[in-house]
Amino acid sequence: MTGQAGEAFDTAELQRLDSAHYLHPFTDHGALRETGARVMVRGEGVYLWDSEGRRVIDGMSGLWCVNAGYGRSAIADAVHRQLLALPFYNSFFNTTNVPAVRLAAKLAGLAPPGFQHAFFTSSGSEANDTAVRMAWRYWQLMGQPQRQAIISRRNAYHGSTIAGASLGGMDAMHAQGALPLPGFHHIGQPSYAEHGRGMSEAEFGLAAARWLEDKILELGPERVAAFIGEPVQGAGGVVIPPATYWPEIQRICDRYGILLVADEVICGFGRLGAWFGCETMGMRPDLIAFAKGVTSGYVPLGGVLAGERVAAALIDKGGDFNHGFTYSGHPAACAAALANLRIMQDERLVERVAKETGPHLKARFGALAAHPLVGHAESIGMAAGLDLVRRKGATLHDGEPFARALAVGMLCRAHMFDNGVIMRAVGDRMIVAPPLSMNCAQIDEMIDRIRYCLDLTLADVGRRGWM
Ligand code: PMP
Repeated sequence: MTGQAGEAFDTAELQRLDSAHYLHPFTDHGALRETGARVMVRGEGVYLWDSEGRRVIDGMSGLWCVNAGYGRSAIADAVHRQLLALPFYNSFFNTTNVPAVRLAAKLAGLAPPGFQHAFFTSSGSEANDTAVRMAWRYWQLMGQPQRQAIISRRNAYHGSTIAGASLGGMDAMHAQGALPLPGFHHIGQPSYAEHGRGMSEAEFGLAAARWLEDKILELGPERVAAFIGEPVQGAGGVVIPPATYWPEIQRICDRYGILLVADEVICGFGRLGAWFGCETMGMRPDLIAFAKGVTSGYVPLGGVLAGERVAAALIDKGGDFNHGFTYSGHPAACAAALANLRIMQDERLVERVAKETGPHLKARFGALAAHPLVGHAESIGMAAGLDLVRRKGATLHDGEPFARALAVGMLCRAHMFDNGVIMRAVGDRMIVAPPLSMNCAQIDEMIDRIRYCLDLTLADVGRRGWM
């Protein structure tokens, strides 16, 4: 296989070097050594090519981030120009740079009302660390420094730094270190499939939100700084909360004066059919953490949008906020974001998710529920998940799961990779979050491939006597 610049790829040699030297994120390296890593070499639109020349349709936008799709020369050009003009300068010491200023102002125009200030980081994890530090600083400035407890949810994903992993509710991450840090508390996730039995969805949404109130009362409201949540949990498996959940969470945060942090690292920049997920969910957050889609992943960039309440305290009550990164407001990253947002606006990508591609995905993905291996299939905007089940139940959520150890999701994922579509497995829940630039014909192609791979998986589990 040759790349765009005519470079030839020796897959075996790259795999050997990879195995010898490259430590991957969230990877079992022993298992990877057996199979060898797939080497990605090129992307165009919603398609990727590996070093063997195989084409796949990218159902995961890279890692929930390539919202505008691959191969956007306007982003590359903007970064190139900025690297030549000024590749780096810091934003410490009363200094700023042109793309960072322009991006902060641009975000103030796109964000929900009241968000006029942006702080920049290089990743979503750093964005969430920043949100925690801002919340703590806010309460200090408000004369309530004892408000330090942060409440999050089990099965949430908020990043891999020590604060990010503490905020997150991933048992497998906590188990590998002294996590979560003291002061980070978790309540159950609003997963109807997991907890909702015997209740209507609306009742369950209220009940799940009230776990927050129980936790606040247990800790003492005067000790709680903030509650953080993804509008729709992404890495946890596209967990779409009932419509009653976020308004009730909002009521509870308001009642006890607690800051609400929306982790919009996945939901931000159009994923749910609005610029920010909180707008579709009935949340009025005080802080918004973002990353990924802001640059469509072309260059790393994240940050926090501060709402009026926190910004006013940080700015007007004065003093240093002793927090920041070398790359806060990196000129090339901000230039990439500006070019990306221009594309998203010019092509009306967010509006198309709301009115055209999101509804098309909902219809086509939802129809997969008729497949014998699927218990429930749901989507919101351009994010979707389905449950692989051993036997269908009387209702959507009553399907009988496979034994976890069978790892049917991984089996299914392998078929997807081998048959030209990228879909992610979270246990036996299969999820997609395609580029927002994916059109309806490409959605059809993706769904046809998914259905074919579900058939292959069904044949496998039948052959192995697992049904
Ligand atoms: N928050 C959410 C909701 C995420 O999905 C992720 C990454 N998948 C993060 C935070 C962490 O972002 P990063 O990997 O850029 O640190």
